[in-house]
Amino acid sequence: MRVIVDYDQCDANGLCSELAPKIFELGADDVLRVREERPRPELWPAAEEAARACPKLAITLTEHA
Ligand code: SF4
Repeated sequence: MRVIVDYDQCDANGLCSELAPKIFELGADDVLRVREERPRPELWPAAEEAARACPKLAITLTEHA
């Protein structure tokens, strides 16, 4: 799985980093970063939950590396 964030859509509300802190991190500068662009399989459920929860639909999860 690969995690892609559309930064044009993201408004840095931090929901994804609360739900999946090992994958997403909201910096002190209020800019979201992807910590794990290719997360381990055990993190996939958290990545999917974060993608579903994102109110801006800014998170895309792809099957391909
Ligand atoms: S939940 Fe969506 S809008 Fe919010 S910080 Fe994460 S990617 Fe950005």
